Amino acid sequence: MDNANIREIRIDPIVPTQSVLISTARGNRPRRDEAPPARDERAFVETCPFCRGNEDLTPPVAYQVPARDEWEIRVVKNPFPILADDQLPPGLPPGIQQVIEGYGHHEVIIDHFNHGIALHQFSERHLALLFTVYRDRMRFLYNADPRIKYILVFKNFGKSAGGSMAHTHSQLIAMPIVPHNVYDEVQSSLLFYKKSGACIFCTLINEAMTLETTAYDRRDGEKLQNYETAKYLVERGRKFVAVKPFASRYEWEVHILPMEHQGNFLEAGADDFADLARVLRRTMARLHAVVGELQYNYFLHTLPHQENSSDFADSFHWHLEICPRTSIPSGFELGSGLFVNSISPEEAAAKLRRVVIED
Ligand SMILES: [Zn+2]
Ligand SMILES: [Zn+2]
Ligand SMILES: [Zn+2]
Repeated sequence: MDNANIREIRIDPIVPTQSVLISTARGNRPRRDEAPPARDERAFVETCPFCRGNEDLTPPVAYQVPARDEWEIRVVKNPFPILADDQLPPGLPPGIQQVIEGYGHHEVIIDHFNHGIALHQFSERHLALLFTVYRDRMRFLYNADPRIKYILVFKNFGKSAGGSMAHTHSQLIAMPIVPHNVYDEVQSSLLFYKKSGACIFCTLINEAMTLETTAYDRRDGEKLQNYETAKYLVERGRKFVAVKPFASRYEWEVHILPMEHQGNFLEAGADDFADLARVLRRTMARLHAVVGELQYNYFLHTLPHQENSSDFADSFHWHLEICPRTSIPSGFELGSGLFVNSISPEEAAAKLRRVVIED
């Protein structure tokens, strides 16, 4: 891999209205001055409401596994919900402003009873359980409340990633709209499907996993160029793959997807989660080895509720987006909507691949 400076605008293949400026020249990106604060590695903190034994410090339990005995994963209502079901409908505003009732549910999923554990230190059994809890909570809320159009599952870890509680946890927000990031992906992939008959995510996975392709001249069959195309692969399991997006917004952004087409996360089963757990744990270990103490967000993108018509189910492909936070968005990024990434995705993927993971 040559280390020449890249300065190019890459169009996101899935949502072409989004683009990223890959600019690897040094010093053009505001960095965090201080090293991230050390993670609190204590297993138990007496004053932490999410620690086992402090259950009376949180709202009542909504769900837990196992149902009896000491819990491993525990779900409670968020005491400071972004959306909730306790408000009166808004009055009609005058003019062109529009309001949709801020109705919904906001839950906290306490990922692990261990206060300071990092994701790459979770057992694979526990990680698989966590994704099972995500799925089962989503199923429950969709069934219980027909007004919900989308449920976003996400995780903020570390202060720079908006994690307000040190104890490892995820969140789930059930909302009365489909958020536009999901909507854009769903619509763009449907468009691609209608043109080409293929799922764009499957197409990108195929490309990411092809070791080498050769381009031939169309007229005389002469070999033009060899492309090394597996350069976006980070980790590969039996059923899941971790890839570095070609138009990565964040330096160390990695996406994990099922290799076989699957539109809806709610259809994933135990065998899927067992392999997802392995691919996720190993991916997080790679990131940890290269970036250091990680502060990150991850979130699940899947089909909106009741978009199971066959076109959507064939054109969309659920995935987990992992976005480590290593820099602060600049005014340029906020003003232009153009993310700036100072590490070439090809080089970042190569670095992550080189990490040797103990099994
Ligand atoms: Zn705790
Ligand atoms: Zn697909
Ligand atoms: Zn997505």
